Parts: sequence; C-alpha cells; structure tokens
Amino acid sequence: MIDPSGLDPATWAIVGGRGPGGPGAPLNVPPHLASNYVLGAERVYTRGSSSPTIEAFEELLGGIEGGACVASATGMAAVASVFDQLAVGARVVLPDDCYHGTSALADAGEAQGRWSVRRLAVEDAEAWAAAAAEAELLWLESPSNPLLRVADLPRVCAAPRAAGAIVAVDSTMATPLAQQPLRLGADVVVHSATKFVGGHSDLLLGAAVTASPALEAGLRESVDRTGATPGAMETFLALRGARTMPLRVREAAASAVVLAARLDDHPAVEVVRHPSRPAHPGHQLAASFMTNAGAVLSFDVTGGADRADAVCRDVRIVRHATSLGAVESTMERRAAVPGQEHLPPGLLRLSVGCEAVEDLWADLDRALGAA
Ligand SMILES: *Cc1c(COP(=O)(O)O)cnc(C)c1O
Repeated sequence: MIDPSGLDPATWAIVGGRGPGGPGAPLNVPPHLASNYVLGAERVYTRGSSSPTIEAFEELLGGIEGGACVASATGMAAVASVFDQLAVGARVVLPDDCYHGTSALADAGEAQGRWSVRRLAVEDAEAWAAAAAEAELLWLESPSNPLLRVADLPRVCAAPRAAGAIVAVDSTMATPLAQQPLRLGADVVVHSATKFVGGHSDLLLGAAVTASPALEAGLRESVDRTGATPGAMETFLALRGARTMPLRVREAAASAVVLAARLDDHPAVEVVRHPSRPAHPGHQLAASFMTNAGAVLSFDVTGGADRADAVCRDVRIVRHATSLGAVESTMERRAAVPGQEHLPPGLLRLSVGCEAVEDLWADLDRALGAA
C-alpha cells in the first residue's frame, strides 16, 4: 500500500482506497451490495465487520486527515458517535454558533441528564483553552455554520487537557483540504460527507477521523451498536465524488473569494461573512492555518427577510435549496429554518459551486437588483 503521508491530498484523493488491484481487477472499488458473508473469515456481516467499499472510502478520507476514518450513515450519525463516547455527567463545551443539528443533539442530551452543555464564543481562544482543562468534550466547528466565524484551532487543539478528554472539530465547512485538525492536535475530526466530500447532492454520509486507536475502537463500537452503518451505494458515490473533491473545492473556493468581494461592494448587501474579506475578524487567523477560506459565505440583504426571500425566488443558476458543498451553488435564508430564528432575518447562506464565476455573479447581481 502507498503511504499517504508524503503525498499532496489532491493525489491521495485519486490514489487512496483503490482496492487490492492486480491484473483484471477493476481500477476502483465497486459498490459491494452485500450484508452477509460466508462464515470462516474476518468478514461476517457488514454492520459489524464493514465492507470493501466502506473500507476504501475510509482509507481515502483517513489518509487526507491523517488518521483512521470511521464512516457512518450521515454527518449527524458521526456527530452522535462522538457524543456517544461520553460517560453520564460529562461536561460538554460548544461554540455559540454551530450547525443547528449538533446544537439540538447537545441540548437534548442535557435535558435527558446525560451531560451538561456550556457555550463559548467561537473566537474566544483564551476561554476555550481554559475550558480544555475541565471538560470531557470540547466541540469546535470552524468556520462556523452559518456565520463563518473562525476558531483559533492551532491554539485550542493544542491546549493541555485531562487524559481521556476529547477535542473534536467539525470541519465540514472547511473541507478536508483547507485544514486538517488532527495535525493541529485535535483528537477527532468530523465531516458531513454529504457536503463537499460527496459533492453532488445525491447522498447522505458521515465520517469521524482519529489518530487514537482507543477512540477509533470506541467510535466503531458506537456505529455498530447504534446501527449507524453507512450504505454501500452512498459510500461508493462518496468515494467517486471524493476523487474530484480537490478540483471542485479549488474552483468553488476561488469563486467564493470573487463573489464575496463583489457582494461587499453591492448596494443591496449590508454585511458579507467570508474569511477571505480583509475586514472579517478571523481573516488573518484563517490565513495562518487554512489553505483556502472555503466555498461557503453568508451575506445580509438590505431590507431584511422579504427582500432576501425575493432574491432566493429570483436566482436561476443558483438553486434555492438548503445544504452546501455540491457542484451546484445553493442559497437559503437561514433564519427561515426552524431553530435558526435567532439569525439576522435577511441572512442568506450561499454555498458556491463549480459554475463559471461570471455566470454566478450575473445571476446574483440580477436577483439582488430585481428584488
Ligand atoms: C450538514 C452538516 C452536518 C450534518 O450532516 P448530515 O449529513 O446532514 O447529517 C453537521 N455539521 C455541519 C457543519 C453540517 O454542515
């Protein structure tokens, strides 16, 4: 097997998870649509002993992040598998802006008496580093969804902590290419592979990657026990999608820089949130450890909810849809999402896709003018 550690992630995205090969073998691992195997070998049943397709996907993503990847049915299943590691009474620290599903899962567990939750400002590195010494789980998400706030990952991931304490980073918005939190000292990195890894709005998949064999065993046990095993077709499609992730992310992140700058100058736009903007509070910090500022941005339309809704109705190339990280650009007014009412009413989250940037700009400019 080739060692991924010396390779550019763009190469590993092509080379990782190729399967055993040999003359006459397929170049890529096909979808293994099998639940059950003839007894007498290690592979018995897909929920407990995986499948060649799942293993190929895990080899690819694990190689980029620098750890062992545990795939699961959805991004939320991956999030839950990390929370499942906690003993009753654990102290959990969450950012004050993060994916609403993670926030809801943490709050529900607290209401059930499973753990306690404290929230800290994404940017308050001092408070996060101090909290590391007294929490069982530090949950970071950077850039945050949907406000694109940047956490000091190099500082917080390296903060001293008690044995067994977990520093987890949801790196979905950044993609596995822009940052690799395990290399900064995090214990586990989580992805909704539904987003940039899969990249085509056609699957749900999650992944948790860790360099700790004990944590890997705990995560695998949790996915098996809770039945969060990924599907064969989903894993196959994500493996196929991940092959072009470096190309897609490079294009989309470059277009996001252009669109963020132009939106910043647009009379119908109040605020643009993207780490590429020099006025963004996390601009320099992001540049110090991320290789690009990501392909998701959010901006506030002047005139609030009604005007923002009209913009969503008027775009033709950008799709009015939730989710992010796909080849097609998607845009949504986030305060319209249940549980997200606290956000600015005119905030639109734009996930920049791989369409030509001038076509995207013409579409946005026209919709902003028409609204
Ligand atoms: C979408 C998302 C999730 C949840 O992933 P699913 O695949 O939808 O379950 C978790 N974290 C972030 C940052 C996300 O954007």
